[in-house]
Amino acid sequence: MQKNDMAVIEITDIGVGGEGIGKIDGYTLFVKDAVIGDRAEVKVIKAKKNYGYARLMKVIEPSPYRVEPRCRFARQCGGCQIQAMSYDRQLVFKEQKVRGDLERIGGFAPELIDRVMEPIVGMEDPFGYRNKAQFPFGTDKEGNPVTGFYAGRTHDIIANTDCALGAPVNQDILETILAFMRKYNIPAYDEKTGKGLIRHVLIRYGFTTNEIMVCLVVNGNTIPHVRELTDDLVRIPGMTSITMSVNTKRTNVIMGDMYEVLWGQGYITDYIGEIRYQISPLSFYQVNPAQTEKLYSLALEYADLKGGETVWDLYCGIGTISLFLAQKAGQVYGVEIVPQAIDDARKNARINGIENAEFFVGKAEEVLPEYYERRQMDGADRNEQKQMDVEPDRLKRTAHADVIVVDPPRKGCDAALLETIVKMAPEKVVYVSCDPATLARDLKILCENGYELKRVRAVDQFPMTVHVETICKLTRNFTL
Ligand code: SAH
Repeated sequence: MQKNDMAVIEITDIGVGGEGIGKIDGYTLFVKDAVIGDRAEVKVIKAKKNYGYARLMKVIEPSPYRVEPRCRFARQCGGCQIQAMSYDRQLVFKEQKVRGDLERIGGFAPELIDRVMEPIVGMEDPFGYRNKAQFPFGTDKEGNPVTGFYAGRTHDIIANTDCALGAPVNQDILETILAFMRKYNIPAYDEKTGKGLIRHVLIRYGFTTNEIMVCLVVNGNTIPHVRELTDDLVRIPGMTSITMSVNTKRTNVIMGDMYEVLWGQGYITDYIGEIRYQISPLSFYQVNPAQTEKLYSLALEYADLKGGETVWDLYCGIGTISLFLAQKAGQVYGVEIVPQAIDDARKNARINGIENAEFFVGKAEEVLPEYYERRQMDGADRNEQKQMDVEPDRLKRTAHADVIVVDPPRKGCDAALLETIVKMAPEKVVYVSCDPATLARDLKILCENGYELKRVRAVDQFPMTVHVETICKLTRNFTL
């Protein structure tokens, strides 16, 4: 195959990025936007020795899994990769991805996977689920302000105020801001020149409370006529917080370091299950609250707490899982690298009256091993003193955990952390993962060191995209 060759192929597989994969005489072609089951005409755009990339030119015979995308920009936009695939098929794809990684990377036997894997948790209505959106602003050829999303792999803005994954109220907010910019000639920021004012708007919506937050990210210290803008925005029912974040740096980072309140308060409130969270413009918060509740309920089920347990929640963010588990545990310890997230975690514990959760700032792979080593040394001292009548209570205080929960970023857990988990030997490990490949790698290590994989379940946190979240339960199969 060579560049610019045309070919007709059957799409027989799905790649990690959601692209279709087909073969011609043993030569593999990756075709963006093609759906598994399509028969399509494609044009080669890049040819390597054994494989190449092709553009979808025409669907000759559509796949039974092909559907009309709800968003007319689905193909150009970088946000959704698989909107043209039926939702049922998306779920099968995600489940197979987890299964495939467990087999290939984790080395788990297919029979074992059959036994431990539970059906993926999908959404009833897989659209309009995101509680957070960050829209960039730009200027079109006629000089009008526009907002929307970046086209895949570029910073070209596709003008669209009606994203199918976002809360419906986003459109009203965006149109209000655009109208204000047109009326007062307020320029959008231009990445190339570093000039212009309005860079981004962050919108957050509390599905359980209907509270709305709007945060304007600006390249300057003030917004001219800002009162008029806030007057227009507060007409939207649910408006709770309007803030401004100054970001004058020429970077891809969206938010500034701080924010100031323009109207209302600096945060909105939302519930996951019984737990109430205060979310500010700079807080991390799960973007799909409906699925998050299902995921955390599974974490609770997998942890199977009876009441007195000591639980560690590593990579705890703003303490979402920690607070969820604290409802049933004796004591929870959370560890997180971002100090502001720990401030939020402590505040969220307080507003929910949770007193059995304690939080540490630091790297999980440093905090836990240090804690363990220190406690081991203390424990050794205490053993020596045992004959000398030390209070029995203190003797029990070695580095102990009944359950360890980890929810690492995509790169997975550090080897030093896995080593400490094995040394601490909790009865159960609950692993929440946003990347099945690193999950499989880490599970392999835990299972080579005395743990057994008991339950695995994928949860679809991000319908229409290729991302998949997985939760697993492992139990210790050695006695202490
Ligand atoms: N469990 C949380 C957040 C999970 S996202 C929730 O469900 O909301 C992963 C978190 O790990 C992020 O908050 C990130 O800041 C944090 N993180 C990344 N590397 C880390 C490390 N080495 N040690 C501790 N936390 C880390």
